[in-house]
Amino acid sequence: MNRIGVVGAGTMGNGIAQVFAQIGKEVVLVDVAEDLLEKALARIGKNARRVAKKKELDEDAYAAEVTGRIRTSTDLGELADCDLAVEAVVENFDVKRQVFGKLDEVLPEGRILASNTSSISITRLGALTGRPDRVIGMHFMNPVPVMKLVEVIRGQLTSEETAEAVTAAVRELGKTPVLANDFPGFVANRILMPMINEAVFCLMEGVAAAEAIDEVMKLGMAHPMGPLALADLIGLDVCLAILEVLHRDLGDSKYRPCPLLRRMVDAGLLGRKTGRGFYDY
Ligand code: NAD
Repeated sequence: MNRIGVVGAGTMGNGIAQVFAQIGKEVVLVDVAEDLLEKALARIGKNARRVAKKKELDEDAYAAEVTGRIRTSTDLGELADCDLAVEAVVENFDVKRQVFGKLDEVLPEGRILASNTSSISITRLGALTGRPDRVIGMHFMNPVPVMKLVEVIRGQLTSEETAEAVTAAVRELGKTPVLANDFPGFVANRILMPMINEAVFCLMEGVAAAEAIDEVMKLGMAHPMGPLALADLIGLDVCLAILEVLHRDLGDSKYRPCPLLRRMVDAGLLGRKTGRGFYDY
């Protein structure tokens, strides 16, 4: 697979575009507005510089090389020549429905449509297209350039061939694919989100301060980051959306989102991306 389309140039989409460009793929990055794409490209350049520094390469030249492989557009039609499209738009089924409908129209038959969704059913996304055997979950972790894991999620009708092609693409990125089946939250968020939610309940109930909660999990459980700092990194709106899917689709009250998490999202305190969440940035 040589041409990769990435839809959504937010936190995840720009990382996904960067890692494919870094291994020499031609990338088309699509979002709804030019200014978002400009911002994404600037961030990719900055992150590529960091990679170059670590590898002791010329920072400017490397950043130019990586960003030079990324074409940006506000038109999904530009993805017509892509071998693989990775969707990384907001975690909202209606938005993903529109995007998958359009991708199915634009990409030639047989090309793979992947979603970076954290919790939406791959089977449901596949059913929106005429090629459910070619639809798959490709769940990158944040920050994409750093994290080694990609959960690869097979929907009910995803073919073995598709799973193999995507697994190979993940290995080509130097990352480790782990196969999971299509259940709400897959593996990563099925386990992570209840932990984050419980940390927010601890904060709301006054069990301890945010710093103390994070310190307990870092020093006591050897987590590299506390759950509240991690929630700020992921985005509180993203965490809430995932918990709502777990709650609804698994039907168990243990997944109910903490009211404090909901209130913070209502207030626009979404974490790092808005400069304020459980911590100030
Ligand atoms: P984000 O809000 O940072 O970015 C989403 C981007 O999608 C925005 O730039 C938005 O303008 C764009 N967008 C919205 N509608 C669009 C459309 N119709 N066409 C093209 N672009 C559109 O979100 P994010 O954190 O990057 O999350 C993206 C996806 O990745 C979600 O499904 C999320 O669940 C998943 N995910 C997120 C994380 C994380 O830590 N943030 C980790 C793994 C997976």
